[in-house]
Amino acid sequence: MNRRVDWGEVNLESLRKRIINSKIQKLKNLDISQLFRLDVITIFKAQKIKKELELKYELMYESEYAFDNLNALQYTPVLLDLQEYFNFNILSIYGVLKTNSDSKKNKKTFEHNLDNLLLRIQCLWEYIYQYINDYFELELALTYEECKIWRKRQKQIRNDEAKIKQSILELKQIKDDDYNRDKIFSLEQALRFKDKEIACVSKYNICQEMKRKYDLVEGSKYLLNIIASNEYDSVRRIRNQVAHYRSASANTSIDSMFLYNGTKSVSINKEGWIDKADILISIEKELLRLRESLNYLYTILYTSDFPNLKENAGKTYFFVEMVCCNCGDSIKIPDSFVENSSLDKKTYGYCHECGIVEVDFKQMIPLNEKHYEQMLIKFITNM
Ligand SMILES: [Zn+2]
Repeated sequence: MNRRVDWGEVNLESLRKRIINSKIQKLKNLDISQLFRLDVITIFKAQKIKKELELKYELMYESEYAFDNLNALQYTPVLLDLQEYFNFNILSIYGVLKTNSDSKKNKKTFEHNLDNLLLRIQCLWEYIYQYINDYFELELALTYEECKIWRKRQKQIRNDEAKIKQSILELKQIKDDDYNRDKIFSLEQALRFKDKEIACVSKYNICQEMKRKYDLVEGSKYLLNIIASNEYDSVRRIRNQVAHYRSASANTSIDSMFLYNGTKSVSINKEGWIDKADILISIEKELLRLRESLNYLYTILYTSDFPNLKENAGKTYFFVEMVCCNCGDSIKIPDSFVENSSLDKKTYGYCHECGIVEVDFKQMIPLNEKHYEQMLIKFITNM
């Protein structure tokens, strides 16, 4: 409600003293335990709520792609970190919040935990966007600060373009060794970077880049749908207010409705400005969305369900597995290196143990596009 004060009727000095004294009295009555209220019963109840919502990674579907060990090794620790953040940092607060939602006595605890939880939820979304950016190679800058640094470097490269091109020409004329090849590669990368549009990680940019770069099917498509469905509902609306405007525990609000007619206003509402039941329902939906997104990231990693680039939509990639007839070792060769006709009969291949020998066809191994490319490079450099 709006309390407009008629300044003519009151003694300003006594009003000022009254307000300050009542505030001091109120602060005296507050102690830290009111913010946390962690008695045994609360912990027990909160623990139960937490358990029910906990994320246990499990495969949501299967795929025929060969498992990519290296990828799994690199990203599993990050996914475990995110799982811990969800199960421990977020669900613990949610448990305490929900346990304290039913009585007026616990108002302070509720508001404190709500402030905290809303910000933690947003943090986890941001960490998920960062993971997606790296995992799917979207090449977005991690933060706005880094964006500025990259733009500065880009400007420098544009200025030095002629010099860089000249260096590449010169390097190509001198002897062809690993050192020179690496140097040429990094200069060519710099030239490629010169025309790139630099943006930073955000929900919008992640969605746009994923759609622009990949032929989205199965896991990556569903994942993006969940992220995009994270609309401007009450969780986001209230979270934005907490982050930029007023705490969940605020009893006063600076109003904007008189912004453009020269008057200002402050409203006071002792009951607070958030509908407890409504926000709890929205938060629970949000937690389920977070849990599902994380489980999709896990499933995509462990089924190697990495999407094809848009220009290669629908293409399939295979390695052919042969067995050395001499020692029985397995030999894996990219399909483009094997003639179709050699698949049904004995043919010749190269075994690392025995050299050129007779080999037998064993099976076709489907790989996702990115994994295939990496294996192809490895195969060629080992030839
Ligand atoms: Zn052999």
